[in-house]
Amino acid sequence: MIIDQYRRQMKKLRVQLTDACNFRCFYCMPHKATFTPSSKLLRPSEYVSICGRLVDLGVEELRLSGGEPTLRSDFLEIVEGLSVLPVKKFGLTTNAYKLDQLLRALKRTRCRYINVSLDSLSAGNFKRITHADYFDRVYRSVCRAKDLGFSVKVNCVIMRGINDHEVFDFVRFSAKHDIEVRFLELMRVGPFFRAHRSLFVPASEIIDRLRGNIQLTPISKPSDSTSFNFTTSSGAHIGFIASESKPFCSGCSRLRLTAIGLLRACMMSEEGADIRYAALDDYPEILQKVLSWKPTYRIDHIEQPMVHIGG
Ligand code: SAM
Ligand code: SF4
Repeated sequence: MIIDQYRRQMKKLRVQLTDACNFRCFYCMPHKATFTPSSKLLRPSEYVSICGRLVDLGVEELRLSGGEPTLRSDFLEIVEGLSVLPVKKFGLTTNAYKLDQLLRALKRTRCRYINVSLDSLSAGNFKRITHADYFDRVYRSVCRAKDLGFSVKVNCVIMRGINDHEVFDFVRFSAKHDIEVRFLELMRVGPFFRAHRSLFVPASEIIDRLRGNIQLTPISKPSDSTSFNFTTSSGAHIGFIASESKPFCSGCSRLRLTAIGLLRACMMSEEGADIRYAALDDYPEILQKVLSWKPTYRIDHIEQPMVHIGG
């Protein structure tokens, strides 16, 4: 098991496949972004080898992210390779632009937990936020993934004056499609963090607003869960990831593997240990170093964009 000096066990690995993306969600990605050339990214066999070793050492959950992970031409090769690993949970976080065409093939793999970013249920607002005119395509893919039996969640970053008027629409969406919606607090991540104050909506405010109109029943979650969740009498499942107002750093169980092979301890800190060419014997030393970097408290902000961190 990978356990740090504070007895936190690292069970989850966030795996970045690329820092590139075809959307430009304004809070995540600068309009003129530069991306790591694909020749520098980890190859499928390297993902399998590094993740396999970390799974042997105790990692239980893998989640692919980015950038937009599905943009890689070898995306399915990576998923198929990682599917041989004996993890409890294997998931994908995606903007769903390419999801529909991948679902049949994904169904044959062990990647069953799909989180889709969907910050608006209105086509116009979706376009304003993402600078991509693909609302219908994303919405249809979410529903189709659910119909095909995947475990699907929708991630919605709530921002004041941008989409916070849509929270009740998302609750109705959740009840209608039986899909959990998670409201994410906007994090102080990326060059955009300076505008954070004006857009930030704490989870408590959304909960109060919802409670004014509907009954929220709390659901219990594992102690290292990043979200706290509720059901409603209409059958909606909603969660809150309150990374700013209720940080979960003291119970964090996550490590991050970047697309160029750095192992990172925390999304809020740029430190990373090169694990790409490490031999199996080097792993204990690398892990010790990485765990020593893992903070127990919430670092205030990071200027590195989320797409470079790995979602
Ligand atoms: N492209 C994929 C997607 O959008 O799902 C995966 C990568 S994206 C960086 C992963 C998640 O990070 C998305 O749900 C996105 O909304 C969220 N995200 C990006 N920047 C954020 C910020 N500043 N605060 C909170 N969440 C953020
Ligand atoms: Fe791309 Fe995801 Fe960032 Fe949007 S949130 S720009 S889809 S990486």
